[in-house]
Amino acid sequence: MGEPRTNQESPGADDKLAPELQDKVKEWIDGHWTGSRKCPICGTSNWNLNPYLASILTVTPERTLNFGRHYPTIVVLCDNCSFVRLFNSKKMGILPISTDCNGEEGETEDE
Ligand SMILES: [Zn+2]
Repeated sequence: MGEPRTNQESPGADDKLAPELQDKVKEWIDGHWTGSRKCPICGTSNWNLNPYLASILTVTPERTLNFGRHYPTIVVLCDNCSFVRLFNSKKMGILPISTDCNGEEGETEDE
């Protein structure tokens, strides 16, 4: 990875998943990824777990971002071409996100 970021809007070291949680995520992925591990873009097989929990936001009927309904997401990147694979952490049974931008309990969807 590169130099630590200083931009306040970028994830900081404190936002990283705890090492034991990263191990739990890797274990879950290893147990479920039974098919080919070849990257569909470049054909290599070297994947890295992004150490930050991400989120996919949903959109309201008015087409504005709904920060209260989201999919907490584990990001896995191809080390060669940066292709991204996403896993729903709630569905994995790992790491439900606890708060949204309003400081309220985040609502997540399984599908
Ligand atoms: Zn690739």
